[in-house]
Amino acid sequence: MRTPLRGGAAGLLRATRGVLAATGALVDLAVPVWCGGCTAPGTPWCPDCARELDRAAAYPRLVAGPAGTACAPEGFVVAAAPYAGVVRHAVAAFKDGERRDLASVLAPPLRAAIVTAVALAADRAPLSEDVLAVVPAPSSRRSRRVRGDVPTHVLARQALAGVEVLTGRPCAWAPVLRHARAVSDQARLTRAERAANTERAYVSTDAGSLCGRDVLVVDDVVTSGATARECVRALRAAGARPIAVAALASTPRHAATAGAPDRADMYS
Ligand SMILES: [Zn+2]
Repeated sequence: MRTPLRGGAAGLLRATRGVLAATGALVDLAVPVWCGGCTAPGTPWCPDCARELDRAAAYPRLVAGPAGTACAPEGFVVAAAPYAGVVRHAVAAFKDGERRDLASVLAPPLRAAIVTAVALAADRAPLSEDVLAVVPAPSSRRSRRVRGDVPTHVLARQALAGVEVLTGRPCAWAPVLRHARAVSDQARLTRAERAANTERAYVSTDAGSLCGRDVLVVDDVVTSGATARECVRALRAAGARPIAVAALASTPRHAATAGAPDRADMYS
């Protein structure tokens, strides 16, 4: 039988509870306790959103193929999932909601897109035995300043874990593209405006080491394909051989061809 606490002992218990409550609050601040897909409380990624992501990313899809489409005049563009539902919410939370912990949720689908893109490219034409350079789409200086880091790079680097084993070829992280000039925020631009905004906007900072090398472009969301296309152009200008573009998500094609500003998307 428990002996009721009295006097000093009860006060000590109350104080201890207070400390624990404060500690709990701090832990809550450190570890998100709401779902990055649906904001349900109590978990950083709930089972419902996990199931929806599994369904959405079950099969990486070819956004553009070698026959030529709006997204890529040449080469494959592969996306892991449509940019919708929990994928869209999680990307927004990851990039702009300080939920960098969601990289562990979003990296596996991006990894699947990377592996698929490499396999498709290898099936189309023999790849070099040399190291495959993995080049992320560049981030503007303004975006880096606002966010303090480059979320796309955080995600892509996590996705690369295990890619060498899965593709059977050595890979090297190569963030060599940078903006050659200032570009506008793509968010409210039409498809034509996006293309003009990114035309000749990137340049390689390391042309020497990329010359003749196979490279894979990685991005988070493909919308009109303007960013992917400009990455490919800049890498070719540096003498590299872009073999494909892999992305976590792609917007529905009709959204990219509607002609009006694409409000469904914040990215390029
Ligand atoms: Zn959820």
